[in-house]
Amino acid sequence: MLNVTPSAFPASGSQQRAAAGGRSKVPLKPGRSLMDWIRLTKSGKDLTGLKGRLIEVTEDELSKHNKKEDCWICIRGFVYNVTPYMEYHPGGEDELMKAAGTDGTDLFDQVHRWVNYESMLKECLVGRMAVKPIAALKGVLPEKRVLASSAKDLSPSYDWFQTDSLITIVIYTKQKDMNADLVIVDCQDKQLRGEIIMDDHSYLVEVDLDHAVSEDVAVNIAEKVGKVEIILNKKDNIHWKMLGQPCEGHNTFIKRTDRGLFYRKCKLVSKTEVTHDTKLFCLMLPKGTHLRVPTGQHIYLKHIIAGTEVVKPYTPVLPFLPLDFQEPPCHDGVHLYLMIKIYSHGLFTQALDHLQIGDCISVSNPEGNFKKSQVQTSEDLLLLAGGTGFTPMVKLLNFALTEVSCLRTVKLIFFNKTEDDILWRNQLEQLALKDERFEVQFILSQPSKDWVGKQGKISPSLLSEFVKRSRRDSKVLICICGPTPFTEQGVQYLKDLGYSQEEIHAFTA
Ligand code: FAD
Ligand code: NAD
Repeated sequence: MLNVTPSAFPASGSQQRAAAGGRSKVPLKPGRSLMDWIRLTKSGKDLTGLKGRLIEVTEDELSKHNKKEDCWICIRGFVYNVTPYMEYHPGGEDELMKAAGTDGTDLFDQVHRWVNYESMLKECLVGRMAVKPIAALKGVLPEKRVLASSAKDLSPSYDWFQTDSLITIVIYTKQKDMNADLVIVDCQDKQLRGEIIMDDHSYLVEVDLDHAVSEDVAVNIAEKVGKVEIILNKKDNIHWKMLGQPCEGHNTFIKRTDRGLFYRKCKLVSKTEVTHDTKLFCLMLPKGTHLRVPTGQHIYLKHIIAGTEVVKPYTPVLPFLPLDFQEPPCHDGVHLYLMIKIYSHGLFTQALDHLQIGDCISVSNPEGNFKKSQVQTSEDLLLLAGGTGFTPMVKLLNFALTEVSCLRTVKLIFFNKTEDDILWRNQLEQLALKDERFEVQFILSQPSKDWVGKQGKISPSLLSEFVKRSRRDSKVLICICGPTPFTEQGVQYLKDLGYSQEEIHAFTA
């Protein structure tokens, strides 16, 4: 059993409380953390009031259970009695009550589609929704089907061919600026999954292959014509009659938010100390996986903790800050580096810290709404980071200094509690010496008496001192990331200082 003080976590402002990416700041009562919920679900208590019986629920029946003390919600066809969960919900009772007595699937997917409610609420399962007669279903076709047909002209298509030893799947995306960041391929055993990201849509090829293939998968992209080739090696030199059996989402072109998050298991290959409480975790992608996490995007890690699936977002970094900008950015396509602060009462980070080299953890596809083009048109880039809010700035810095020629200045203003908390301080100082466009400023909120640098928390006066345009009319982009109050206050102060919404990018979940 995990050693947890019930009242100590999650702290207000922790992600477990603000599960909806900082949307909610509802303080949970002591003893109502996720770990407490997991404990309750393991206690053997009858949480549905049905003594373990599962029933078929009609829409009429569902709608009757719409009060706090008797609240049922349907998620993906399954009905849960969420009354016992009310006080544990990080978004608060009112948010949960919005779906009381109804189908809450869309609401949950909009707000936190990465939270696995099926796992979290499994002890609250009342039963399945009763299937409606076909006639009644007309007119309520799922939105994603309607979307797929309206986007038909833009929809990619695929074909496949074979030689004695190879199977090649060709995807014609019809998108001219296709690149490796937009193609995610997983091939394990006989399962092939290839996802192409096209703005807010995703195209999927997913088949249970006809015959076995080896683990080596090659991905070729003809960027200009938008053609993607996935090349598989046959295990046996036999002629395939078909590519395989299509899986549920095969050959669909739908909104990304309608596509479930896909996870693959990655092996922990190293864990190195960055500071007294922060570690660099290096994970190895499986051989059959082609995945790159674009600058400014995060992934989700999923791990079973005390029998419940827990999911948390993390932003991949580089293994170090490259100083030689003649070299290409150092991602080898095989390793994923995560810089993670281990909290002494943290549910997930404690579990991560206990992983041994060689253990596996599930890693999702990347997500996030940051677009590199925002940097490509800027002359001044200002990065405001609080603690591990530094992580999205790592790839961003590297990208800005290596690939964006119009940038005149890049400034990182890095807020930490103490000197010991500053991540990669040496590397940042070296970078500032090496590249005259780059400047770093450290600001401490709990400095020791020896600290001669700036101190304080994010404030209008600190921002007006450090956030400046290099020329009166220069195009500026300000990126901000850190604890939710830090980011929220920072955005407000920047607006008060006259920066427009378009000039600010806040990293949130
Ligand atoms: P919880 O169980 O949620 O909290 C438990 C305890 O942890 C609290 O009581 C408190 O002691 C401590 N704690 C948690 N958060 C804070 C905080 N902000 N300030 C002070 N104490 C706190 N984290 C990284 O380390 N690296 C990343 O690259 C990273 N990327 C992220 C990307 C996104 C998009 C988002 C939204 C968050 C990211 N996080 C990152 C935070 C991460 O998702 C978790 O919230 C964090 O690891 C804490 O998880 P936990 O389960 O251990 O803590
Ligand atoms: P921390 O507690 O060590 O604080 C770092 C600095 O942030 C402090 O020195 C202070 O200057 C500022 N700060 C902290 N709390 C503040 C408050 N209430 N008001 C104003 N300023 C405050 O930070 P940490 O423990 O490293 O936490 C980092 C946070 O960044 C986490 O909440 C994490 O979820 C978030 N994060 C978000 C992303 C993302 O992409 N959205 C990525 C990485 C980290």
